[in-house]
Amino acid sequence: MKKNNPSLPFLKNMQLLDLSKLVFDNSRAFAQKMDEEDPLAIYKEHFNFPIDKEGKKSIYFCGNSLGIQPKTAQKEVDKVMDQWKNAAVKGHFDKENAWVPFHLTLKEMMSKIVGAHASEVTIMNTLSVNLHLMLTSFYRPTGKRTKILVEPDIFPSDRYALESHLHWHGYNIKDHLIHIPKAEYQENLRKGDIKKIIDEQGDEIALIMLGGVNYYTGQILNIREITEWGHEKGCTVGFDLAHAAGNIPLNLHDDGVDFAVWCTYKYLNSGPGSIAGAFVHEKHGSDQSIPKFKGWWGHNAEIRFGMREDFDPMPGIESWQISCQPILSLAPVKAALEIFDQAGMKALRNKSILLTGYLEFLLAELNNKKIKIITPNLQLERGCQLSILIEEGDKSIYNKLIEQGIVVDWRNPNVIRVAPTPLYNGFEEVFTFVQALKMILN
Ligand SMILES: *Cc1c(COP(=O)(O)O)cnc(C)c1O
Repeated sequence: MKKNNPSLPFLKNMQLLDLSKLVFDNSRAFAQKMDEEDPLAIYKEHFNFPIDKEGKKSIYFCGNSLGIQPKTAQKEVDKVMDQWKNAAVKGHFDKENAWVPFHLTLKEMMSKIVGAHASEVTIMNTLSVNLHLMLTSFYRPTGKRTKILVEPDIFPSDRYALESHLHWHGYNIKDHLIHIPKAEYQENLRKGDIKKIIDEQGDEIALIMLGGVNYYTGQILNIREITEWGHEKGCTVGFDLAHAAGNIPLNLHDDGVDFAVWCTYKYLNSGPGSIAGAFVHEKHGSDQSIPKFKGWWGHNAEIRFGMREDFDPMPGIESWQISCQPILSLAPVKAALEIFDQAGMKALRNKSILLTGYLEFLLAELNNKKIKIITPNLQLERGCQLSILIEEGDKSIYNKLIEQGIVVDWRNPNVIRVAPTPLYNGFEEVFTFVQALKMILN
């Protein structure tokens, strides 16, 4: 097979890149050349980087935990502060930046990121709260269909939420929260195991609730396939996209997912505890037989302030909104989503495939038997994150990286999660990180 040097300007090539057809080169000069030719490198300038102890910009590979600050975030927050100061209550309907429809442009931008219609997406609450609201509506056990299927190493908050709904419905957790089995000595889930448990127990599963990208291993699950398998068996299918939104392209509408939730402070760079996203598929959006917790912000906006007794729902997911929107908290979300809107998920994904492929290549070149990448080695099965297990490693590795101004994430007992993001990371940063790791491990 003919291999090409990947220095082609990847923005022009809107086909998704195929990593197996590319070759990398283990030199700093190569990394610098990649950065020079990177059409997305300009976006680095849109962000404030944390400063290391020498006053230099850190190399920040922790966007899977908390994204860094867009430079425009401050301006958007100030705008709302000024409006509040100068217009007070009139701010709700100000000519510019009005608060009542404030979330509408955010819905528009967010729907492109997750592959949905704007009417299927809203920004409200935070992730775990949205998960509870969705479970209220979409975990509806009947007859012998009572179980919830999850992945084995489900994120704790998701587990607590699911367990509390089982409890609320009076089911014991042991028999009703069931896990996809994980093969011995395997970090990642196998397609066959997912299909098998849905085929075998689907008649008893009310809800399949999985992470689109696993927070620990970085493995992508095939949303379309799993949704299809679940629906064939009559199960409802929901996804937690905390590690997927802004990381990989998504097609929630076409994939037929019933509902999804995600936060905006990880890859979406909207600030600590920022307001989260939620998706309800169009096929359920106007179904008023679905039980939900209601509030006035789910009521028809045209006559919301008429203070009527009867609930006249907004169309689509907006009928799940409860309270008035926290505009100050939405302001940085706006700043962050505008950057995604300009860069576009397709171009970002292409750069991401290259950047993470390059990281994987350099780690392999180290030829160090102690290093084991637990993230899948196929580009279709991972986003930007690589989870690196270091045999006999301890947290001093992480501490030394931090000391050198390289911010990564440590998971006990011995895993480093590294997430080079295509928006604000570059190839030379990846090169520098691998050099630093090499020195530390020697
Ligand atoms: C980050 C994350 C959360 C966090 O939930 P919050 O309600 O935003 O605190 C939940 N689930 C998963 C899978 C996550 O990765």
